[in-house]
Amino acid sequence: MKILIKNTTIITLNNSNMLLTNSNIVIEDKYISYLGNEVLADSEYDRVIDGKNKVVMPGYINAHTHFYSSFAKGIGGIDPSKNFVEVLNNMWWRLDKQLLLEDTYYSALTAIMDGIKNGVTTFIDHHASPYAITNSLPEIAKAVERMGVKASLCYEISDRDGADIKDAGILENFSFIEDNKNPDIVALIGLHASFTLSDATLKEIVAKNVNNYGYHIHVSEDKGDEVDAQEKYKTSVVERLAKFGIVNKDSILAHCVNISDRDRQIIKENDGIIVHNPESNLNNAVGISDVLSQIKEGILVGLGTDAMTNKMGNEMRIALWLQHIKQENPSCGFMEISSLLLENNAKIANRLWKTDKFGILKEGSYADLIILDYDPITPLNEDNVLGHIVFGLAEANVETTISNGKILWHNYQFEDFIDQHQINKHSRELAKKLWERM
Ligand SMILES: [Zn+2]
Repeated sequence: MKILIKNTTIITLNNSNMLLTNSNIVIEDKYISYLGNEVLADSEYDRVIDGKNKVVMPGYINAHTHFYSSFAKGIGGIDPSKNFVEVLNNMWWRLDKQLLLEDTYYSALTAIMDGIKNGVTTFIDHHASPYAITNSLPEIAKAVERMGVKASLCYEISDRDGADIKDAGILENFSFIEDNKNPDIVALIGLHASFTLSDATLKEIVAKNVNNYGYHIHVSEDKGDEVDAQEKYKTSVVERLAKFGIVNKDSILAHCVNISDRDRQIIKENDGIIVHNPESNLNNAVGISDVLSQIKEGILVGLGTDAMTNKMGNEMRIALWLQHIKQENPSCGFMEISSLLLENNAKIANRLWKTDKFGILKEGSYADLIILDYDPITPLNEDNVLGHIVFGLAEANVETTISNGKILWHNYQFEDFIDQHQINKHSRELAKKLWERM
C-alpha cells in the first residue's frame, strides 16, 4: 500500500526540521518513505489525500489507560465516595469483578475506536478482570490487531481477591509474554498498587521475572498508598518497590502524586518512568502531582489519561494549567509540560518497543500520523509551533488517523473494515448485562 498526503503543512516534532509547508508525505507499508516538496504523480499511489489547509502531526501515544473502563460510561447506582479507596470499592472493584472475556474484548474495541477518532495510535493499557483473567490479554491483543494500532498490555496482579486470583494474574502476564508474537504489542508485567500487594507476592513475581521485563503499576496515586506502606513496611511506596527491583528502565509508575524528594531520586537512579494523569487526579481528588520537580530531577515523565479521555491535546493543556495553579505562576512549565506528550511519550514507546521510530515524522519512522483540521488564522512558523499546538492544534478535530501505514479514520469516518455501529450496538448490550450483574 502506497499513500500520498500532498500539499500539506507538516509538524514533524523533529527538532532539526520542525515545520514543513506545502509539502508531501509518502507512506509505504508501515513506514514513512518520503517527506518534502518534490512534485509527485498521483497515479503512482494507491490512495492520495489532499492535505491543503490541514496540519499533519505524529499520532498520539496514551501512556496509561484502562480499556475496560469504557464500559463505565453513564453508569448509575454508584454510592458517593468520600475518598479514593471508596472510589475503588464503590465503583471499579465492583465493575472489574463482573467483566467476562467478551466484555474485555468489546470494551477494548470501543476504547481503541475512541482513541483512533481522537488521533491516538499507541496505547499503554493496564487491565483487570479478576473473575475472567485467563486469556484476557489475548482477547485485548485480538482487539488491538483488529483495529490496527500498537499497544502495551498487562494484567494487574493483586492480592485483593485472594491467592487463586493472584496466581491466575501472575500466570496470565507470564503466559502472554511468552506467547505474544505480534511486534505491534509489547507485554509488561502488570501490578495493581503497593497497597494491594504483599511482600510475598512481590517476591514471587520478581523471582519469576528472570528476563527483567518492565512493570506497569499505580504508584502513590492517593495518600492511602503511602500510609499503607509506612504502616506495614516502614517505608515509602517507591522505596519499597525499588527494593524489589520493580523500579527499572522499562517500568511505568502511573501517577506518583504523593512522592517525596527522596522517592524522586530513587526513580531517577533506577531510570524508572512516571506517567502523569491529570484529569483522573482531578476527578479522584488525590492532589496535583509535582511534575516540574520530577522533570527537574531528570526523570522521564509521560502523559496518560487513566481512561478519562483520549483527547491527548486537552490532557496536555490540563496538565499545564494544573502546574500554573500549583506554582501560582501562569508562565511556568510551558516547555516542560508540553514535552510530556510531544517528546516523552515517544521516548517511552521507543524504550518499550526497543526502537527509535515513534513520535516523529521523518523518513524511516513509523507511519503513525494524524491529519488535523487546522488552517491557522495567525502566522505559523518554526519559532511558534509549540504555541500553535497548545493553543490551537490541541483542540483541533482529527480528520484522519493512519496507523502502521493503514488509513483507519478518514474524513471523520472509519474505514469500511471497522464496523463502528455494529460494535457499539453489541457493546451496549454487553454493558447493560454487566451493569445488571454489579
Ligand atoms: Zn490507572
